Amino acid sequence: MKEMKFKKIDGKNVGKIRIEIFEEDNGDKYDERIEEVNNYWGDQMPMLAMEEAGEFIQAVSKLERSNIKEYKENLIKEMADMMISIKALTFRYGIEDDEIFEAIDKKLEKNY
Ligand SMILES: [Mg+2]
Repeated sequence: MKEMKFKKIDGKNVGKIRIEIFEEDNGDKYDERIEEVNNYWGDQMPMLAMEEAGEFIQAVSKLERSNIKEYKENLIKEMADMMISIKALTFRYGIEDDEIFEAIDKKLEKNY
């Protein structure tokens, strides 16, 4: 199980984040299915990921503007689409999960 600690803010440890889609236990479950998704979409996968990124942006915007419950449910669905798209692109471009975790660690250390 992959866990990352957030950086301390104001001397307090603000918690841990787990990205379950990349966890080893769930990762095995999702890896095969998402690799199939990537193979199915082939050269269209990057465009699909870009479209999903647009839908994610729109979902955040709608929720922030309205705070309507159904928009939160929509955001969750779009977050799922984003995570699937990102994972699919790791297969397309031959990126290991650990490379992403390393980048996340560096970002959390440096930028947040
Ligand atoms: Mg979507």
